[in-house]
Amino acid sequence: MPDALHRRTPQSRLERLPLLPGFDPRLAPIVDRVRDGTRLSREDGRLLFSTPDVHSVCALADIVRDRLHGDVGYYNVNRHINYSNLCALSCRFCAFHRKRGQDGAYEMTIDEIRAEALKAADAGATELHIVGGLHPWLPFQWYLDLLSTLRDAVPQVHLKAFTAVEIVHLTRIAKRGGEGYDGIRSVLSDLRDAGLGSLPGGGAEVFDDRVHDEVFKGKIRSERWLDVHRAAHEIGLRSNATMLYGHVETRDERLTHLMLLREQQDRTLRAWATGSGVPLQSHPGHDGEVRDAVILTGPGAPHPARPLPTPATSRTGYFQTIIPLPFFPDGSALQHLPGPTGLENLRTLAIARLMLDNFPHVKAFWIMQSLRMAQVMLRSGADDLDGTVVWYDITKLGGQTTHQEAGVADLRRAIREAGLQPVERDTLYRPVRREGARWHSTDHAGLAVAR
Ligand code: SF4
Repeated sequence: MPDALHRRTPQSRLERLPLLPGFDPRLAPIVDRVRDGTRLSREDGRLLFSTPDVHSVCALADIVRDRLHGDVGYYNVNRHINYSNLCALSCRFCAFHRKRGQDGAYEMTIDEIRAEALKAADAGATELHIVGGLHPWLPFQWYLDLLSTLRDAVPQVHLKAFTAVEIVHLTRIAKRGGEGYDGIRSVLSDLRDAGLGSLPGGGAEVFDDRVHDEVFKGKIRSERWLDVHRAAHEIGLRSNATMLYGHVETRDERLTHLMLLREQQDRTLRAWATGSGVPLQSHPGHDGEVRDAVILTGPGAPHPARPLPTPATSRTGYFQTIIPLPFFPDGSALQHLPGPTGLENLRTLAIARLMLDNFPHVKAFWIMQSLRMAQVMLRSGADDLDGTVVWYDITKLGGQTTHQEAGVADLRRAIREAGLQPVERDTLYRPVRREGARWHSTDHAGLAVAR
């Protein structure tokens, strides 16, 4: 049952928070800024990381979630397909990749993937999440054929596929327009025309050159990752973003990562915000330069009006969701590291909610956080648990323990126990109405919408 605090409005909860026992008075200016909808600075982020009052950090993030989403907690019904673990790179944190001939190496054919997609569609999946390693010899045409085959086989199912790292790899092998921004955009356009519906958020890790060179040298740097998502947004695709934390990065480097993401989202949403009457705020960026910021989490937050770009109001895509991912050391080249604790996971997710004031959603990816921890995160800033995932291998333990499943009933129960109303969503966060395996997306007034 939600307690008395949770039944209050977000504004009254903000007023009451500094009066609660154990409140760290140094957080009072941050409470004021959240109340007024003012962007938090790097210094604010540092204090949120260093205060012993984790409870207030999580409560603040929960108030922001409440402003945006009220009592809704999202989940989806999806299937992850990792088409191959063969990879040209060898990132040190990765327990997933294999080289040709190595024990455990595999690759699926398009027919095998199609068969998995049909099974998933028969079971009612609304989304296929398709990622793999940087396959050393598959041609670009294989990826186009894969998407068009799936689009024809399961036309109702949304195809969310290929991390930014894979997109840059595809741009290289497509040998069209070079590897620069135009090449990325042209490859994304071809993939979209073949059936790609959106991009997942993987491959971002932590945007910092020191961390990059120490842990995933050879992988694309932050500018290139952001370029891929900028190009995707420009051609109308939405995407997600991740932060894989808890290895060799510092907390300050996590803050830089979050600030770079929100500045990218500012650039994406600025024109839409100006045309939609959403006020802009001047704010210093990660480099101290003052820019116009788009804030979606202030007192006039979207819930329940949800004034975000839609195909009817804007042709731009945008970042929908931040997904903080804790690092699992086991089976990777960094297994001597301890990995983050539960409290650090909770705090990092809450800070992501508070810093990313222009991201509509925060996902507690239960398969990596555990369903128990993800449930607590629903009252610490997260509004989404992700789905009834069947397979998820990347960065998780190797061997026998990668297979995790949760049924719809488990997810709905976890959301209800957190005091929220479970709502099944599609990939674009539209509510889903379902009868068994048959389903359709609706708008937020409950009316059916096209795929
Ligand atoms: S993280 Fe991705 S790019 Fe790096 S080794 Fe693993 S599969 Fe390859």
